[in-house]
Amino acid sequence: MARTWLFGMMALVALAGAGSGGPEPEGFPPTYRIFAVRYATIEDLPAKMFVQGAAPERKTSAAMAMWLIQGGGRNILLDAGFYHERFFKDWSVSSFVRPSDALAGLGVKPEDVTDIIVSHMHWDHADGVDLFKSARIWIQRDEYAYYSGEAWSGDHHGGIDPENVLTLVALNTQGRVTFVDGDAQEILPGITCYTGGKHTFQSQFVGVSSASGTVVLASDNLYLYENLEKHVPIGSTLDAVSNLRAQDRMRRIAAREELIIPGHDPGVFDRFPRLGAGLVEIRGAKPHP
Ligand SMILES: [Zn+2]
Repeated sequence: MARTWLFGMMALVALAGAGSGGPEPEGFPPTYRIFAVRYATIEDLPAKMFVQGAAPERKTSAAMAMWLIQGGGRNILLDAGFYHERFFKDWSVSSFVRPSDALAGLGVKPEDVTDIIVSHMHWDHADGVDLFKSARIWIQRDEYAYYSGEAWSGDHHGGIDPENVLTLVALNTQGRVTFVDGDAQEILPGITCYTGGKHTFQSQFVGVSSASGTVVLASDNLYLYENLEKHVPIGSTLDAVSNLRAQDRMRRIAAREELIIPGHDPGVFDRFPRLGAGLVEIRGAKPHP
């Protein structure tokens, strides 16, 4: 298995070097470029959804985002956003761009996306997986098993859309899903998945090797910068202690704290260089040798 992807990656790296318009030939493992892509905003959400213990009357707006990891001849998405009509009835969505169109500013077409890492099964992260017809889906084995199984025999499926589950099962029957087996799994060279955030049954976050050092893409395991800065668990977690432990671990994995990227904080789009509407590149000063 490892040997298969190693040879696959070598072929891709060779192809990337030979192709026109592709990335420059890179070392192995590649250092990736990483972009945060904002495809919508949801206004007026209770802050306590995001920050445990926030005042009941406090409201906040959420940046709806996904992240593109580019390198080694691959376009890898972390999460795929949402787009089906049914979600717009329940939520106050503004500035919406269909996730498959939101990458256009980076010159990436939907069919160019080679991989989608699903951080967790919530509708606003998993709904868009079927917009990217060439992509291999990576999801934690236990996340998939739980939400396609026993979650539905009780009230343990908040935020999970039944249609999204069926889509993922269908993609699996087409051989397009690869299961990630737990914590600290390097699924592609320089891209490692971590568990323990407990936003959902087995949510994952990702460490990515970049020219600025290791970047942590937390997705909803860390909702806002406020969680990290005040050391407060996310509002929606199955295990607050585990969530705080995961936040502490993100600090150890990331090259610097500024390279920990929360899942829904609009501030991400102010803190990094802007490439276009809703597009920033996640990078900082070069790491010290
Ligand atoms: Zn979520």
